[in-house]
Amino acid sequence: MGCRYFAVVKIIPSIAAMQSLAKKWQRTGVRIGFVPTMGYLHAGHMSLVHEARRRVGKTGKVVVSIYVNPTQFAPTEDLAKYPRDLERDLKLCRAAGVDVVFTPSDKEMYPGGRHETAREDARPTGFSTYVVEERLSRTMEGASRPTHFRGVTTVVAKLFNIVLPDVSVFGQKDFQQATIIQKMVADLNFPVEIVVAPTKRERDGLAMSSRNKYLAGDLRRQATVLWCAIVIARATVKKSKSYPAAKLEVAVKKLVECEPDARLDYVEFFDPETLEPVKQVKAGVQMALAVFVGKTRLIDNARL
Ligand code: AMP
Repeated sequence: MGCRYFAVVKIIPSIAAMQSLAKKWQRTGVRIGFVPTMGYLHAGHMSLVHEARRRVGKTGKVVVSIYVNPTQFAPTEDLAKYPRDLERDLKLCRAAGVDVVFTPSDKEMYPGGRHETAREDARPTGFSTYVVEERLSRTMEGASRPTHFRGVTTVVAKLFNIVLPDVSVFGQKDFQQATIIQKMVADLNFPVEIVVAPTKRERDGLAMSSRNKYLAGDLRRQATVLWCAIVIARATVKKSKSYPAAKLEVAVKKLVECEPDARLDYVEFFDPETLEPVKQVKAGVQMALAVFVGKTRLIDNARL
């Protein structure tokens, strides 16, 4: 076991402290790798951490942020009950050789409250500037969760300005999110390289997710239906070479709804670069789906 397994991980809750440390690293030519997360870390997150370390090398610094960002949750969603376990997260980060865990509070990130929530804590000086991607964020997750990507792009832009990364790693698990972040970085000239790392799965194919914690009893078994849908779509494309998207959508809906507690939110077949839906599904097309399993909304995607 190398000594980095015993390294101390620095916890920084303050934006000013994080930014000035990042500036110091930048001045001295230390490369910064960054993995933004909402915590409740699992092996999927840790694979991004390892990728960040690979990219910056032993002499670089790896920063993980843990922040459950309120602006990417709609009022009806699971913000308050989103799973949290900072102690466990810190242990995992320490074991993975993370240098800094950045853990800002809502007060740090959105001082003065948020203008739009217009609650008594939102002063006129409250937060009122958002980063909005206007094309890729309209479909799929954006259609089901209209303010979600505005929250994501805004918080990631803030985090990039605070952590000043040379490279930042995102998961393919959130394929549309990674595509939108790449577009934001290109459009707004953020000096950061975006790396997209593969989805880590449980042995039965279920994509790892902090939200899997909600899957009690038989719901955990039913949740494998997302992976089954991907496997079946892949097999269909392999057999038919080209298959009508509309027909495959009906087949996926039928498959999902064979499970007593599963309901399809959407399934889409699209070009992985433009995110434009395709009429004919062929090898190389991307598939994404969102399924409610009980009250838990799960997403998954894959290249066919
Ligand atoms: P989250 O904490 O859910 O916001 O995720 C933080 C980052 O981890 C995002 O870039 C996700 O795409 C990525 N991620 C989440 N689950 C997985 C997974 N199973 N495999 C790989 N990356 C993941």
